[in-house]
Amino acid sequence: MEYPLYLSIYYYLTRSGEYPTGSTENIKRKVRRQASKFEVHGHKLFRKNPVSPVSQELLHEGIVEEVIKRVHEEGHYGVNNTYSQLRLQYTGPRLFEWTRKVVQNCVTCQVRTKTPHNRTEPAHPIDTPIHPFYMIGCDAIGPMDPTEDGYRYLLVAVDYLTRWPIAIPVKDITEETTVNFLFEQVVVPYGVPNFILTDRGSNFTSGYVREFFKSLNCRHLTTTAYRPQTNGLCERLNQTLSQTLAKIVRDNDALTTWDKYVTSALLALRTMRNDTTGHTPAKLLYGYNLRTPATWPAPRTDFVQGDPVEEIASRTKVIQHMIEKLRPEARSRSNEKKQKYKARYDLQVFPRRRFSPGEQVLMRDQKPPHKFSDRWLGPMTVTRVNNNGTYHLIGPNYRRLQGAINGDFLIPFHNHKLMVPDIQVKRAENQFLAWISRYDTL
Ligand SMILES: [Zn+2]
Repeated sequence: MEYPLYLSIYYYLTRSGEYPTGSTENIKRKVRRQASKFEVHGHKLFRKNPVSPVSQELLHEGIVEEVIKRVHEEGHYGVNNTYSQLRLQYTGPRLFEWTRKVVQNCVTCQVRTKTPHNRTEPAHPIDTPIHPFYMIGCDAIGPMDPTEDGYRYLLVAVDYLTRWPIAIPVKDITEETTVNFLFEQVVVPYGVPNFILTDRGSNFTSGYVREFFKSLNCRHLTTTAYRPQTNGLCERLNQTLSQTLAKIVRDNDALTTWDKYVTSALLALRTMRNDTTGHTPAKLLYGYNLRTPATWPAPRTDFVQGDPVEEIASRTKVIQHMIEKLRPEARSRSNEKKQKYKARYDLQVFPRRRFSPGEQVLMRDQKPPHKFSDRWLGPMTVTRVNNNGTYHLIGPNYRRLQGAINGDFLIPFHNHKLMVPDIQVKRAENQFLAWISRYDTL
């Protein structure tokens, strides 16, 4: 209830029918009507109720929020339960609305809220490139049990068109090792990629590596934080490579020397038909299927010593054919598969209004340190909105979060200032209480 009306009723009841100075007939009628419903106990208004022994205190705008908060926080009940608890002792206009606002704004409840549908953005698949080594994905696997020579990690890369895999065992994944890997294993044999996609591991995002990319004029894309699927191609390679390696290691009883078998595993992958492209990576990159050690001992009856010029000409023809036919074919198959995936993915998407800059949000904690820890972190403030449904945020204490965050991991944070006339009402209430105490002592 508005505080002036509350006071008018109070005065009317305690000073035998006095109205506020300058009241019109309308106001007087309103005061009379309201006053008939209430009685005064200890300078507060209570609803008259001859039936119930417990009378309900009338809440005015100066205290309503505080009272609801206190009731809600007893057990952080939902809106309905908070409201029914409240109604046992209190009354007032629009109490349910107030309750809804207070509960919705409770920080504790917000950071503990259950995860909503977590797909709010349709998938944005990356278009398959036209040329080999136009775009590659890069990742690190490990740490694993160190080998006899001290190798603990694998650095891996994969080409987005041909799916050609690259990997080397390394002892650490410092920025130097990473740059050496990219230069010796990718740039030297296959040329500079236009794009390199990595996760946000520190070995990929350090200043040294960024400088390296810049010097090559190669654009570095990082996966959106909290959504590792973006680098799905590399993740899948990691799995296949790890599995293949594990099998080879098992067959050769080489648990402590697995680093010696990485090249064999790579050869296996390079000559394996890929379900998505329909070809082996070797065929798509070089135009012919590599012979594997298993096929090496086979008698080479087809080998005819011919004119080198003619040989080169026929090889060129093969490569030409491949460029014209195989690669576009593989590319469209890749894209088709991505579209199918997108269609399936998007069925589970529950779109939501995009956040706007300046809005406050909470971010889902992927790995809460404890079962009882907050499920949501924040509040954070949106600073930039990207077209693909990711956001740049400033965290608590104005700390800028690194990289973009996928909208699926965000929910709106409610932090409305509930009390508009807060200060004035508080002041009026204080004056009233001061006046009461003076009046009482007279
Ligand atoms: Zn709460």
